[in-house]
Amino acid sequence: MKIANSLFASLATALLLALSGCNSTSSTAKKSSIWEKELGAVAQTPESPTELHEDLNLKVNLIPKGKYGRRLFREMTPQYITIHSTQNPTGDAYAHAKALNRGALRGGVCGYLCWHFTVQDDTVIQHIPTSERGEHADFDGPGNRYSIGIEMCEHQGNNQLQTMERTAKLAASLMYHHKIPIENIRAHYHWPREGYSTPNKNCPHFLLDNGQPGDDWRWFVGRVNRHYQRLAAYDEYLQEQKRQEEEAKKRRQMVHMILHQIGEWVGLG
Ligand SMILES: [Zn+2]
Repeated sequence: MKIANSLFASLATALLLALSGCNSTSSTAKKSSIWEKELGAVAQTPESPTELHEDLNLKVNLIPKGKYGRRLFREMTPQYITIHSTQNPTGDAYAHAKALNRGALRGGVCGYLCWHFTVQDDTVIQHIPTSERGEHADFDGPGNRYSIGIEMCEHQGNNQLQTMERTAKLAASLMYHHKIPIENIRAHYHWPREGYSTPNKNCPHFLLDNGQPGDDWRWFVGRVNRHYQRLAAYDEYLQEQKRQEEEAKKRRQMVHMILHQIGEWVGLG
């Protein structure tokens, strides 16, 4: 009986483990499909970069030049965009701007942490120019040396989905203006931190699956790409318009030339 009981207990445990395994797999797989459903598909119509920029509701509130995170002037030509999340349940984008502007966040190579943008559900705040390097990813590694750092807020009351969507739009706009390819959209995870026992940080944690990029991360990058495609389509639309205008101009010139020639013939007659 005792053996039967313990056998039953271990079978039950195995069943529970299998079920919980199933649950976690299906819930992670489901997360981004629920998000996609809630947000709706990204429109396929062209969008002008100005329109998208206005939609971001971007506020520029730079760290004073020569101070704290901008203590050293370190020029950067951005080649990547790095996505983070704050893991701060109390600070909104304004609180992070304040903290950066008074040098309250210490760390990194220059002694102060800094990044380029903080995003919350209804706004984006810029802290340093995109032509200057930040301290947000991997000390003296390529994440800091070549990437624009974006932090997504996680404070209570903030709509996480709208924050992700605003971040996707910001990343698309930055891709467009700095000619950054989609494969260079990186999670903080992608930049290992030298000397750490877990070099690849679980960041942005809610977009990673078990601490690693998976379906949800791919969904986010796909969303960035679709917003970018709208800007690219707008460029194509402008080019097509220009081509049509040039053709119309050529036709007008041709008609003018023919009429002029006819006039000369009539005059000669
Ligand atoms: Zn991070």
